[in-house]
Amino acid sequence: MIQKIGKKVIGLVLLVLALIVYVIQQIPRESAVNMSAVNAKLQEQPVQEPYGSVYEVFVYSYEDTDGDGIGDLNGITEKLDYIHDLGFRGLWLMPVCPSPTYHKYDVADYMSIDPQYGTMEDFQRLVQEAHSRDMKVILDLVLNHTSVQHPWFTKAAEYMRSLPAGQEPDPAVCPYAEYYRFSRNMQGGYAKLEDSDWYYEARFWEGMPDLNLDNEAVRKEIAEIMKFWIDKGTDGFRLDAVTSYYTGNHEKNIQFLSWVKKTAVSFNPDCYIVCEGWENRNTYAQYYASGVDSMFDFSFADVSGVITSTLLGRYKARDFGNAQESEWQLYQSYGSQAVNAPFYTNHDMGRSAGYYAADDGSKTKLAQAMNLLMSGNVFLYYGEEIGMKGAGKDENKRAPMYWTQDPDAEGMTQGPPGMDEVAMKFAPLDEQLKDPYSIVNYVKEVMRIRNAFPVIACGRTWVHQDLTTDSVCMIMKEDGVHEPAAIIYNISDQVQTVDLSSTEFHALRGVLTVNEDAVTFSNDILTLPAWGCAVLTEQE
Ligand code: CA
Repeated sequence: MIQKIGKKVIGLVLLVLALIVYVIQQIPRESAVNMSAVNAKLQEQPVQEPYGSVYEVFVYSYEDTDGDGIGDLNGITEKLDYIHDLGFRGLWLMPVCPSPTYHKYDVADYMSIDPQYGTMEDFQRLVQEAHSRDMKVILDLVLNHTSVQHPWFTKAAEYMRSLPAGQEPDPAVCPYAEYYRFSRNMQGGYAKLEDSDWYYEARFWEGMPDLNLDNEAVRKEIAEIMKFWIDKGTDGFRLDAVTSYYTGNHEKNIQFLSWVKKTAVSFNPDCYIVCEGWENRNTYAQYYASGVDSMFDFSFADVSGVITSTLLGRYKARDFGNAQESEWQLYQSYGSQAVNAPFYTNHDMGRSAGYYAADDGSKTKLAQAMNLLMSGNVFLYYGEEIGMKGAGKDENKRAPMYWTQDPDAEGMTQGPPGMDEVAMKFAPLDEQLKDPYSIVNYVKEVMRIRNAFPVIACGRTWVHQDLTTDSVCMIMKEDGVHEPAAIIYNISDQVQTVDLSSTEFHALRGVLTVNEDAVTFSNDILTLPAWGCAVLTEQE
């Protein structure tokens, strides 16, 4: 009898325990999450080329290893681990060939390294070290013009000066006379050849004579130049000023680019080509018809682009999404190989920290997520990861990388000649690294997310219109290969709540917050703090 009662009691106790366990499971768990805790679980996944990420470096102002105050290739090699830790898997080196200017966009010899930057051995070591970290190296290739100091031009100029009045140049005597465009008549975009009656085409500046790209001999030189650098391990080229090849003639520019791409892949089938065509997107989109991999996405960049316009309230959150959705279709309509090349700033633009006057860093940070989580092969200009300042004349936009407060510290560069003193708004890198909510650590979290979900780079972008508002943008990424992802941005200074119960997205996988504010996710209700961002997938 007592045993029977005992069994009943035990049974009752077990039933009550089971009930308690059941009830506890039904109570929503503590759901506030912290950025680094969530993102720490993410693993980098391999990405299909060329959907990568590229860090743009102005060698001159990066890291100096020999104490002359000018950055060098060995300095970049030293900093490869830093760039890799940031999350970038590629480098774009601004011009490295010998040149009379500090920026080196007027090349005097296409097949060597400017002694200011080091030697060819230094370059090959940099490429080798980059490749050993699975990082690509892209070189700036300036084909529109050379330096007046290039031997092609000095020989041509000497010959033109020697011609008696009325005599036309003979390419059999001096082939270089046809490498450029000489004329006896002054016309727009031409400069006077000193000590002669001749003028030569020089659209940007008299120190940069335009090449005659119709000349077969010039094309043969260009082919050899590309082969030379591909043989040295270069993975691709950034083509400068492609809309200026034949000024005002998009059709001829596109034909020429088509030849460049075909020639490059004849040396290396994977050679990546990205082009600078600083125009509105309807214009540069047409250049995808040439077969090049990427055109820089100027429509999102700079103080007037989509990102800044959205953060300044000129556009709504939904406009930011819609612009991404429509551009994919636009680019694909010209070439199915099109891989967008989003970027936010470059060496020709004022630095982004200057776009937001009263910003505490929140907009500077969220802008990085808005850019770096776009589809395509994404680019970041050095120093933007710490919110450096620099505007006005070009030299100021290319200031020394702000490694540390002391401008005389080892490795610090002196910056381009003529640069104004640039007052920084945010701390130097060494201080930012100690602060979990600094700009640089935010950028690292953005890249951790990008690298963990290949669909962010490869996926077609569309906007979840039902959940997108003036302040919240829900961007969907889908490529039919990887797990789909949703990126939800709060582009406002208020807390925003999003009910995801009507969607397939039930797993919070990545979080970006501009400070210690937490994101909460409970019963499919996502609460994002001001300027917060979250990435969700369907399952954990
Ligand atoms: Ca140096």
